[in-house]
Amino acid sequence: MSLERCDIAIVGSGLTGMSAALAAYSRNPNQIIKIFGIPFDSNTAKKGEIENIPGINKVVGVDYVQQVITQIENLNAEFVKEDEPNKLEFINEDVTVITKNETHFQLITDSRNIKADAVIISTGLPELKHTIKGEDDFVHKGVSHCAVCDGALFRGKKVAIIGEGNFVARGALFLRKYCRKVTIICPNSTLDSDNRFLIKLSKSQNISFKYNINLESVEIFGSQLVEGVRFQEGEENKELTVNAVFVELKDKPDLTLLKDISLDITENGYIIKNAKNATNVEGIFTAGSISGEMDYIPILMGDGYKAGISVTEYLKK
Ligand SMILES: Cc1cc2nc3c(=O)[nH]c(=O)nc-3n(C[C@H](O)[C@H](O)[C@H](O)COP(=O)(O)OP(=O)(O)OC[C@H]3O[C@@H](n4cnc5c(N)ncnc54)[C@H](O)[C@@H]3O)c2cc1C
Repeated sequence: MSLERCDIAIVGSGLTGMSAALAAYSRNPNQIIKIFGIPFDSNTAKKGEIENIPGINKVVGVDYVQQVITQIENLNAEFVKEDEPNKLEFINEDVTVITKNETHFQLITDSRNIKADAVIISTGLPELKHTIKGEDDFVHKGVSHCAVCDGALFRGKKVAIIGEGNFVARGALFLRKYCRKVTIICPNSTLDSDNRFLIKLSKSQNISFKYNINLESVEIFGSQLVEGVRFQEGEENKELTVNAVFVELKDKPDLTLLKDISLDITENGYIIKNAKNATNVEGIFTAGSISGEMDYIPILMGDGYKAGISVTEYLKK
C-alpha cells in the first residue's frame, strides 16, 4: 500500500462532508482534498423526497446526492491542468482507523494509506440494527431498514414501522401510499416529529399509532416470511398481523475509527466542537449529526460548509 498525501481528509461523504469539501475547495482550490466513504450510503441518499431545502420544492434524496457529487466533480476540472491529479477526490471506501503523530494524521482504508494535514469527521449516525427480537431472522423476508427503499414491495399489504422522529414520520407517509395499513410502533409517548408531518399522519385513514412501547417487548414472528409482530402495550400483550416490519432506529455515534485519539465527547457520545467546528485535538474538525447537530439537512450542510472554511483557515496559519 503506497502512502499518499492530502491537505484535508473528509471522513464521511454525506451532505455534511460534501458541503465541507465544496467550502474548502472554494476557499482554496489549491488544496488537495480527499472525501472518504460512499455517498450513496448516506441517510439522504436512502431516504425518499426532501422538501425542506430552501429554493428547492421537492427533490428525491438520491438525485440530490448525485447533483452534489456532479457539482464537486465539475469543480475538479476548473483549475486542474491536463495530466495533473484531481484536487478533489472521492475515495469510495470507509476509513477503518485514524492515527495522529507529531506532523500529520494517517488514515487507513481497505486499499489506501493516506497522510493528511487536517481531518474533518462527518460520519453521521449509524442505523441501530440487531436489537428487535426476530429482526435478524427475517432480513429480506419481510424485515427492512429502509421504508423508502423497500416499501413499494409491500403494495396492498399490512406493515409496521418501528422508531420515532421525522424519519419514521416520513417513512410512514411514504408507506401509506402503497400499503393497506401502516402501524407506527413508537418507544415514546410522542413521535417527536415536525407538526407538518404529524398533521398529515393524523389525517391518514390507513395509519395507526402504538405509543410507549418498550422495544424489548417487541418480537417479529413468522415461519418462512414475516407474519406478524408482538409487543406489550401497557399490561396487555398485543399481536398484529403484518407482512413487513420496517426497523428505523438510530444508534449513538460510532467513534471506533478514532479509538487511538483522545477526542472530547459529550456524555451521549457526540464529538464536542467549538464555534469553528474544531475539536480538542488540533487539526481535527467535525460537523453534522456526529457532533450532535439537529438532524435537518439545511443545518447539517451549513455546519459542514463552516467546517470546510474553518479547516482551510487553520491550514493557512
Ligand atoms: C427517513 C429519513 C428521512 C429524512 N428526511 C429528511 C428531510 O426531509 N429533511 C431533512 O432536513 N432531513 C431529513 N433526514 C435527516 C437527514 O437525512 C440526515 O440528517 C442527514 O442525512 C445527515 O447527514 P450527514 O452527512 O451528517 O450524515 P449521513 O447522511 O449519515 O452521511 C454520513 C456518511 O458517512 C459515511 N461513513 C460512516 N462511517 C464512515 C467511515 N468510517 N469512513 C468513511 N465514511 C463513513 C456513511 O456511509 C455516510 O455516507 C431524514 C433522515 C431519514 C433517516
